[in-house]
Amino acid sequence: NQKQLVWPPKGFYLRQQELYGNKTGLVPTEKSAMVALVRNSDYHGIRKTIQQIEDRFNREYGYPYILLNDEPFTTSFMRGLQRITKSRVHFGLLDKKAWGYSPYVSESKVAKKLEENKNRYIYGGSLSYRFMCRFQSGFIHKHPLLKSLDFYWRIEPDVSYYCDMPYDPFKMMKENDYKYGFIISPPEKSETVETLWKTTKEWIKKNKNLLPEKSFASLILDDNNDYNMCHFWSNFEIVDLSLYRSKAYESYFQHLDRAGGFFYERWGDAPVHSIAAALFLTKSQIHWFEDVGYNHIGYSHCPHPDLMAQRCTCKAEDAYPYGAHCHNLFKERDDITKEELLRRLEIS
Ligand code: GDP
Ligand code: MN
Repeated sequence: NQKQLVWPPKGFYLRQQELYGNKTGLVPTEKSAMVALVRNSDYHGIRKTIQQIEDRFNREYGYPYILLNDEPFTTSFMRGLQRITKSRVHFGLLDKKAWGYSPYVSESKVAKKLEENKNRYIYGGSLSYRFMCRFQSGFIHKHPLLKSLDFYWRIEPDVSYYCDMPYDPFKMMKENDYKYGFIISPPEKSETVETLWKTTKEWIKKNKNLLPEKSFASLILDDNNDYNMCHFWSNFEIVDLSLYRSKAYESYFQHLDRAGGFFYERWGDAPVHSIAAALFLTKSQIHWFEDVGYNHIGYSHCPHPDLMAQRCTCKAEDAYPYGAHCHNLFKERDDITKEELLRRLEIS
């Protein structure tokens, strides 16, 4: 099903060199890439995103892009994307297992739930949105094109990168032993994850042996030790993929997939990734990219002037993270032991 990977045609990169001058032979230092799931209709939006990442960062580094789609990309899509960067752009198709219903759900019950939820929250009635969230939660890190990657930087169409990134974020993550990087952390709409925490606790109860001795689980607990809805917005995330490839993460995802909430509710990949990061990582392994100016429809971040971020095109007033609830918790809270977590969740 990777037939579309015949792109680029023979000689294409030679022509690229002619077009872009003599600055060739960029060698990225980490096994990393920018990765996006997109539709053919996201053509203009993803070109705009990539143009910014090239301008702000990647033209000095040459990291590749990996674009994935549940339908074959059109030739004009691939041609237009490859022409916006001198980095390699890989195009991949998803297999049926990665894009579709969980084998554990009943399609008629899904149809009923979509009808019930369609006016309750955004995408409440969308089946493809469910496929998307399930794919990004449980399958994206398994795609053959990501096989040799250590890190991925997830990107999306129509976002804005407001400032220069004057260093290699992959290298920075590696050198500091960061496993998960985010910019914006809002609260999730609780109607979309009604049974996610209950299901997570069931998994914890059965898999205590997969939890680390210490974690940043305190970040996502409220006063009643329920889920406080804080999550890292996953439309930007830079992740050491060993997190998602771990035995614990896979077991957690399988448990969630069995429970059906990707379909009967609208569990997002953002809360799933975030709960996993909080349960499996320590605070010192999670990095807030405060110096990256960013917008995705809904929220923006603009670095505080003291950070001296360069060539920003955003307004300081538009910075959601400063003073926001989940960001305050990220600063104030500390790691807890596994024992403390189990005590708080009343799991013996
Ligand atoms: P939102 O950010 O939660 O509003 O969701 P988006 O519509 O931005 O979708 C998240 C990502 O998944 C974006 O990169 C989309 O391009 C991609 N996406 C969403 N639905 C589909 C789909 O049906 N097919 C494909 N190939 N990509 C999709
Ligand atoms: Mn989006």
